[in-house]
Amino acid sequence: MFEYRYKNLFIKAIGIGGIETVYILPELSISFDVGRCPDPLVDTSRIFLTHGHLDHSAGLPYYFSQRALKRLPPGEAFVHERLVEPLTRIIQTWHEIEGFQYEIKINAIKPGEYINIKNEYFVTPLKSYHRVPCQGYALLRRSKKLLPQYLNLKGEKIKELKESGLNIFEERDIPLFAFSGDSTIEFIQENQLARRAQVLFIECTYIDEKRPVAKAREWGHIHLDEIIENADLFENERIVLTHFSKRYSPNMIRNTLKTKLPKSLQSRVDVLF
Ligand SMILES: [Zn+2]
Ligand SMILES: [Zn+2]
Repeated sequence: MFEYRYKNLFIKAIGIGGIETVYILPELSISFDVGRCPDPLVDTSRIFLTHGHLDHSAGLPYYFSQRALKRLPPGEAFVHERLVEPLTRIIQTWHEIEGFQYEIKINAIKPGEYINIKNEYFVTPLKSYHRVPCQGYALLRRSKKLLPQYLNLKGEKIKELKESGLNIFEERDIPLFAFSGDSTIEFIQENQLARRAQVLFIECTYIDEKRPVAKAREWGHIHLDEIIENADLFENERIVLTHFSKRYSPNMIRNTLKTKLPKSLQSRVDVLF
């Protein structure tokens, strides 16, 4: 697996278009997508699924089953509301085939809802656009800041006001990480959290003229040319391009990026293949 580190973020990743996508954040025990369930996924307690295509979701029954075999608490999956029933049905069918019952937790989640991961960390879905029900995700750190009118007060006065029950803080969500899943470019155009995330993992399935922008859109994906056209939207510190089609070799991807990317992106872009 590819290991990606930036500031406090550590991700174990596989991201190959049509083959396998899974991003595990071991320190928070969460994963975005499950791919084909690589070993480290089994120790992850919460899964956030972007959509049901097999390169992103095939490992789900294996994940639940392995956790039961290892006598770990049941894993918990958060998915688009339209996937709860069919995924539950698939896993129940595996119960039947295996002659072995285990608890599964598959919950619906939609944009506007937040799951508290631990302490000040939250995950929230982001609207995305693909050929099947889908959503991206953002990982946020919720920080408390003194309201501007209290900024000049001394520590003791602040303590006193706090104890009086007065709300003297404002909450601010800092997007640390965002992931598009499979989506068209509207994911960036319409999600401020994705544009502002410190680290953005964004799909870039096609990069050449043989598969032009129109083809990418037809299949619900992003073409490199669209990322370049929208370069001004990206406020991210790091942008990781991922989910490249298997038709491109790592060398071809590197060379294409070197020639095509504008300077403003060149210095911030990493690739994962
Ligand atoms: Zn995919
Ligand atoms: Zn897909």
